[in-house]
Amino acid sequence: MAERPDNTAAISKIRASRAQYADIDALAAGVLSGNRLSLSQSITLVESQQIQHQEEAAALMRLILPHAGGSLRIGISGVPGAGKSTFIEALGSYLTGNGKKVAVLAVDPSSETGKGSILGDKTRMVNLSADPNAFVRPSPSSGTLGGVARKTREAIFLCEAAGFNAVLIETVGVGQSETAVHSMTDFFILIALAGAGDELQGIKRGIMELADLVLINKADGENIPRAKSARQDASRALHFFPALPSGWTPQAALCSSIDRTGISEAWGTVIQFESQVRASGWFDENRKRQLKWWLKESISAELIHLLFNDSNVKNTLIQVEEKVKKMEISVSEAAGLLIRLFRGK
Ligand code: GDP
Repeated sequence: MAERPDNTAAISKIRASRAQYADIDALAAGVLSGNRLSLSQSITLVESQQIQHQEEAAALMRLILPHAGGSLRIGISGVPGAGKSTFIEALGSYLTGNGKKVAVLAVDPSSETGKGSILGDKTRMVNLSADPNAFVRPSPSSGTLGGVARKTREAIFLCEAAGFNAVLIETVGVGQSETAVHSMTDFFILIALAGAGDELQGIKRGIMELADLVLINKADGENIPRAKSARQDASRALHFFPALPSGWTPQAALCSSIDRTGISEAWGTVIQFESQVRASGWFDENRKRQLKWWLKESISAELIHLLFNDSNVKNTLIQVEEKVKKMEISVSEAAGLLIRLFRGK
């Protein structure tokens, strides 16, 4: 009689995966019931770099996605010191005070440069963190902008499935992270300061063009006259930009996050925007466009990752780089050569 093959290892693998999936079901159920611990654990799972976790995260997201989408997603940008976290404290408390559930996420890929995180280093939003109707989560601590952005997008969906109906996404205001945050939000706020210089505030680098609302913060005390004139300048500058595809006319307004003035008005503008773009159909159209854009982004990122980890490419890359540096072949020829190598042609 033939000996029975020893399937112990295979069986325990299946059991283990069943156990994990059972956990995923429980985790999803926890998120859907609004359990904060389940929400935190789920975000940690989608942030994980481990291959096995990525499969679990995909299974979790399949369960979550039908329940996502029910929030207003607001991007908030501004240079360090502009008052983003103070503003988020003020806006977040205003919203929870009006019966909303507020989640705060961040996109800060600055740790990618090895210089440490810009947003994460200080204790931020102390009051909001303690608010039972708010959920404050720091930026994923490492990774490329694409990686951080993907994780944040999934965290948005998780927060929505957990019942948060306002999701505020903060970003640093020093690079490409604005474009990423703009592409995952419905409304984009630029927090600016009077007299801090256009260059410094990224206004000349195209960040202002993304804004649906420019808020001149710190409009309090002696600063009020300067803030007013900065608002006029911003208003004038906004007129020069091409019309937004949403049909919305961007606004410039004043606020003081410390005195908490202009906060309810800022939210009023968000609501005005929402009703306008829901009526025009742009709200849904934009979310579909964003998903399509992110699909393309994800494919590009994955292809680049695969290409640079391909053994043929790896073996040839250094030589090709040398030739490019010595001006023996052009960059486009080198790129074509490496891509052909990757495709096995
Ligand atoms: P962030 O780096 O953009 O998040 O800026 P913070 O929220 O940490 O604020 C930077 C500094 O500006 C802190 O010292 C805040 O207390 C101060 N600040 C923030 N908002 C206001 C405001 O509305 N008025 C005044 N006077 N100071 C503010």
